[in-house]
Amino acid sequence: MFDGDRNMPYFRSETQKANFARLEEEILALWDRDGEKTFERSVARREGSDKFVFVEGPPTANGLPHPGHILTRVVKDLVLRYKTMRGFYVKRKAGWDTHGLPVEIEVEKELGINNKGEIEKYGVEKFNRRCKDSVFRYEKEWVNATKRVGFWIDMDSPYITFDNEYIESVWWSLKEIWKKGLLYKGHKVVPYCPRCETTLSSHEVAQGYQDVEDPSVYVKFKLKQEKESEPLYLLAWTTTPWTLLGNIALAVHPLHAYVKARVKVKDGAKEENIILAESRLDVLEDEYEILERFNGKELEGMKYERLFEYAKIEGGESHKVITAEFVTLEEGTGVVHIAPAFGEVDYEVCREKKLGFSQPVNNEGRFTNEVPPLEGIFVKDADKHIIEMMEQRGVLYKEDRHLHSYPFCWRCGSPLLYYARESWFIAMKSLRDNLLATNEKINWYPAHLKYGRFGNFLENIEDWALSRERFWGTPLNIWICTGCGKDYCVGSIEELKDRAKNPVSGDLDLHRPYIDEVVLKCDACGGEMRRVKDVIDCWYDSGSAPFAQWHYPFADEEFKQNFPADFITEAIDQTRGWFYSLLAVSTAIFDAPPYLNVLSLGHILDEKGVKMSKSKGNVVDINAIFDNEGADALRWYFFTAGSPSDDVRFSEHVIIEKQKKFLNTLWNSYFFFVTYATIDKFNPKDKEIAVEQRNAMDRWIISRLNTLTKEVIDSIERFEIHVASRKIEDFVINDLSNWYIRRSRRRFWIVEENFDKDCAYLTLFEVLVSLCKLLAPFVPFVTEHIYQNIARAEDELESVHLCDYPSPDESLIEVELEDSMELVSGLVEAGRRARSDAGIKIRQPLKEVVVVCSEGKREKVASLVGILKDELNVRDVKLEDVSLKNEFAAADEYKQVEVDEDTTLFLDTCLDKSLIEEGLVRDLVRRIQGMRKDLDLEYTAKIRVMYECDEEVKEAINRFSEYICEETLAESIEESSAKGEQVYDKKWKIGEKEVYLAIECVSSHSLSSH
Ligand SMILES: [Zn+2]
Ligand SMILES: [Zn+2]
Repeated sequence: MFDGDRNMPYFRSETQKANFARLEEEILALWDRDGEKTFERSVARREGSDKFVFVEGPPTANGLPHPGHILTRVVKDLVLRYKTMRGFYVKRKAGWDTHGLPVEIEVEKELGINNKGEIEKYGVEKFNRRCKDSVFRYEKEWVNATKRVGFWIDMDSPYITFDNEYIESVWWSLKEIWKKGLLYKGHKVVPYCPRCETTLSSHEVAQGYQDVEDPSVYVKFKLKQEKESEPLYLLAWTTTPWTLLGNIALAVHPLHAYVKARVKVKDGAKEENIILAESRLDVLEDEYEILERFNGKELEGMKYERLFEYAKIEGGESHKVITAEFVTLEEGTGVVHIAPAFGEVDYEVCREKKLGFSQPVNNEGRFTNEVPPLEGIFVKDADKHIIEMMEQRGVLYKEDRHLHSYPFCWRCGSPLLYYARESWFIAMKSLRDNLLATNEKINWYPAHLKYGRFGNFLENIEDWALSRERFWGTPLNIWICTGCGKDYCVGSIEELKDRAKNPVSGDLDLHRPYIDEVVLKCDACGGEMRRVKDVIDCWYDSGSAPFAQWHYPFADEEFKQNFPADFITEAIDQTRGWFYSLLAVSTAIFDAPPYLNVLSLGHILDEKGVKMSKSKGNVVDINAIFDNEGADALRWYFFTAGSPSDDVRFSEHVIIEKQKKFLNTLWNSYFFFVTYATIDKFNPKDKEIAVEQRNAMDRWIISRLNTLTKEVIDSIERFEIHVASRKIEDFVINDLSNWYIRRSRRRFWIVEENFDKDCAYLTLFEVLVSLCKLLAPFVPFVTEHIYQNIARAEDELESVHLCDYPSPDESLIEVELEDSMELVSGLVEAGRRARSDAGIKIRQPLKEVVVVCSEGKREKVASLVGILKDELNVRDVKLEDVSLKNEFAAADEYKQVEVDEDTTLFLDTCLDKSLIEEGLVRDLVRRIQGMRKDLDLEYTAKIRVMYECDEEVKEAINRFSEYICEETLAESIEESSAKGEQVYDKKWKIGEKEVYLAIECVSSHSLSSH
């Protein structure tokens, strides 16, 4: 196509309106073309250069991609394309998260089953096979959406967490932890999901808090007294009445003041003696009188009657008052009900004081037959019955509702219970200082997360409850001897084969149930070792990605070269999810940070600001946007909407707006260039004009471009993507389109060869090419399209994405010129304001404008006075000293506008005959241009203009006929009423005058003849 034939246009002409969605499909085909494989080549080109390491946070493909996933994908893509263009070698391996509760729950739903018993009945082998199949159910949709949005990542060889090799690496890492003595089995109160029948880790719990209303009950516990006297009650408070069935003790603070109050209950009909903390007397709703005051310590050891006689109590004393420092007086009564089966603190304090234990609730969160009236009822549903029972027994002082934050299962949404259970833990608490130290080496974006949300979480870190009493996951690689009780952690497949009692097949699937069959020989006693039935938390899987994706240490080269990551990014909810699990695993094994920079992204909201979710039915269909507006519009919206960490409001409507505002403006600028360049057969290779030889306008836009380049690079390096993209948008709309091109377009209209025209072409060409490269990581499609047409032959690289990112040329930055232009554009704005204040339209020429300002500013404006004159449509611009301000202010004919503290603009608003005439002519020009538009004429089509009007207007037309022709691309303008078939005519009223105008197209440059 670019064969250098002088008679052929150098560029391909374009359509005035772009169909971005179709253009993007063409670009996708181009990138995928045989032999082209643009993505792979863009990576391979940089091999041997410095690395920029990225780890993909693996999504799960058992659900469709959501707009939130698309947001993270485009942010990743922007950074990785940018770094590649900056010269780094940026490998991008995709990954899939495939294990865990999310997958199991989906399969349970499909099978219509609801608990673990039913899964076992169905068969673990069959169940796990279904799980495995389900995790790639929407792979095609994921791959398509990923490609369509332009996220370049290697999806042909992804890491998959269920692969044997991946599991083997995870096993290796757990063995490392086990060898350090950090993997242990504990009996602890842990967060527990009664539906999923498994424990959860504290970082999972941290993801699922919701504000809910629960009952708030004040319960009277009757103290046992030696002498038979009036009843005396201790008043306790709880928001989980069901835990009262497991009550073992009441705790008070030893040093705080408590009182015995005589309370008039039942509207004064009865009086009762009640003990509670003095500072909590507010909770009493009745009149009272204080009888005694004492420290909590004095209550210690007192016995009280059980509320309910149902549950069995094992080992140790029960139902007595203990003292504990953890009792607070911020809420409740200062008397804390203790149920060791349902609270971590409760459990610890009972163990310490050697008190008993009672657990009347089963694994599904339902009361057992120990509590006949509540048997089979889910604990949260039992609350109302328990309140009734207490009412009947006369032990309920009052009942309320209480709004508080309560944890729910992050996967199935069930309220979590705190349960004393046996499970396997990683001793993260003992690694707290190491976690803090590795976090110290990480840059967080936004920075406040480092010591805020994330740092606080680390400060209060708890041991990682790792085991899950479930089926589909990486099996916990611990075997326990049935003879001597010794445990052993297997760290590789080879080791498994070595230690197995019976031969293990070469292609053993490491999942349950197969792995459960493998029995090992005990080193110590020669007995049989059997695997602990649990699988592990799937967050540990994804947290192992930095090494497991490379099958480290069984293959070690890739890992060594790709650790730690330079960059990861996901949504803010991963702070306590993947961001934490990566750090935890890496700290436990390598004592090193797994990533050096982490960018936390906001969530996607709908148009009204509500979080987008399937259940709310407000999820925008991404595919419709791809088909209608295209990926670039979507990407550009995400980048400019706000800081990456802010939540984004999202709808098709806002994407359409973005396309109009930015992409169309970019396209129009490109279209303008290509249209004239094809007509003029402009070839950038023919011309070489140094920038300093060009006019101020050209030098200015080139200076602005270089300044912009500097600012964009600075901003992306700090992940301030919104700053970078908004600056580019401002440049394209205001500097390039609305100022440079608008003000320079006449230079392109000149027909003959001309130095100034060449300068304009070269300048616009250079700006567009640089802009393409600058924008390529943001909007990869339209930039590729433009590049393919105007720059490819020049650069001789086959894609804009193979190019280097532009770097600013400091020698082309003219700070003074940029300042001057800014000053002028401020004056233009002020002058327009003066006109509109005076009610004079911009087409009406005026005599003069006077700018009163400092000498420095006068110097700056002086060189650009022509622009000011033109923009404000005045015949003269005067620059005067500030000392003359009062003089102008006193004159009637001036409209005054203050520009800044030492600059004032005075617009002469007097009109004489010649000004009025000129105004009339400009009005005519505008009407003719409007008529050209009505006919949908090409930019460059020539016309003939005919008119009829009175003498006065005719005089004006004659005087300005040359001007009118120039402005409207007319070959002639004559007085005539000819109404040929090809003639388009219209009667106009201009001011008081009636004018008949007719136009006829006489020639049209064919824009698509080649
Ligand atoms: Zn659950
Ligand atoms: Zn043994």
